[in-house]
Amino acid sequence: MFGYGAILGGGIGRDLRFGVMKLYDTRARAAVDVAPHDGSTLTLYACGPTVYRFAHVGNVRTFLLTDLIARAAALASYKIKIVQNITDVGHMIDDTGLGGADEGQGDTEDKLLAQSRTENKSALDIARFYEAAFHTDLARLNIRPANSYPRASETIGLMITLISTLIDRGHAYIGGDGSVFFDARSCADYGAISGNRLDALKPGHRFDGETDPNKRFHADWALWKFAPSTRTQLVWETPWGVGFPGWHTECSAMSIDQLGDHIDIHTGGIDLRFPHHEDERAQSNAFAEHDVVKHWVHAEHLLFEGRKMSKSTGNVVLVQDVIDRGFDPLALRLSFLGSRYRTQIDLTWDSIAAADAQLKKWRQRTSNVAGGVVDDSAKQAFTAAFLDDLDTPRALQVLRDVEKSSMSDADKAAFILWADESLGLDLDRPADVVDIPLEVQQLSDKRAAAREAKNWAASDELRDQIAALGWEVRDTAGGQELSAK
Ligand SMILES: [Zn+2]
Repeated sequence: MFGYGAILGGGIGRDLRFGVMKLYDTRARAAVDVAPHDGSTLTLYACGPTVYRFAHVGNVRTFLLTDLIARAAALASYKIKIVQNITDVGHMIDDTGLGGADEGQGDTEDKLLAQSRTENKSALDIARFYEAAFHTDLARLNIRPANSYPRASETIGLMITLISTLIDRGHAYIGGDGSVFFDARSCADYGAISGNRLDALKPGHRFDGETDPNKRFHADWALWKFAPSTRTQLVWETPWGVGFPGWHTECSAMSIDQLGDHIDIHTGGIDLRFPHHEDERAQSNAFAEHDVVKHWVHAEHLLFEGRKMSKSTGNVVLVQDVIDRGFDPLALRLSFLGSRYRTQIDLTWDSIAAADAQLKKWRQRTSNVAGGVVDDSAKQAFTAAFLDDLDTPRALQVLRDVEKSSMSDADKAAFILWADESLGLDLDRPADVVDIPLEVQQLSDKRAAAREAKNWAASDELRDQIAALGWEVRDTAGGQELSAK
């Protein structure tokens, strides 16, 4: 498998008939034009996983966003460089990532250390195991690898440099216990992403800062955290004493180190808008002395069978669970593509089954058919949809329209294969379960059209013709399914 850098072309020959690349920018609260700051290569930083457990399918949907942006960039003839961090220290169980005197202990323990105790392994063993699982899940969904995956625990030196600079410039201060805090009031436009205002963030609401004598202001957060003597793993020596980094610090340091201080796109799940991205933005801008990230782009959450996916309700579905039920994991990818990345979806086992059947159908269409030509107007419609803030539902509709059109089977196959460069569904793979003869497939297509026109007599007649060829057709939620009798 190739990374993005290896396969994408340069900025020459951009075809403006397809429109410009647009993404919904959370800070601008609008879909805006996106182009590389240097005229050729988009830079993208994606908030990566905290590697203390398997990613669930909702997390995977968030990671897919980065891959879709990269594929849109290819359609726009932009190169792209992607960095995705691996958080293996500093992400607290309370999940707000806020600084506080008690962090590192009790109910705000480091997620890695808590899991290390549960599994009776070292924190780094936990981290490497779940990091490998993360890469496996990405590959299963055809999410192409980023250019690099820096680990927080291996970039501590960078964070110390960042924090020292922020202290020198008066944006950060050392608290009484040796923790270092960011001075929230030193960021003039704090809240630009999430809409939160400092004067509206009351102590005791989401911040426990009013009881922390080390902070000057309740909304300040820890860049570096003092480690209690009971903490023996994931601690480092610094000019301020022994401790560990705050989660937000990691992303500022790794993004600027790897991509420089002009980053075109920063992605993450919608829950990261506040405080994670807000705090990261304040730190990065104070360090670079200008706005570092141009566009903040967020992926929406999903429900599964109508319920929020969470461990506490027992409603957690992994990619492995999808495979264990006999589905192609790319059925999950197709299910996600059926909605735009920033709309909440309700994923169900039925919708995954329908997507699985659809994949087989499209793979069947491309099997043993060659010599077709990609229709230019279909290509234009598909590209315009994909570039328009990743409107994948509209792009898939173009594919369905091509299927129903009067194009030759070879031309349909050529278009499906061309579109798959952006969809990433392995539609060139042989249809692996049944090899449906072309004649049967064609009758089945006619029957689908007849059913859509509510021509039940024709539908029954076609069912008989299919049966005469030794095949049985069943009508399911995902469309017709064919099986040999
Ligand atoms: Zn992050």
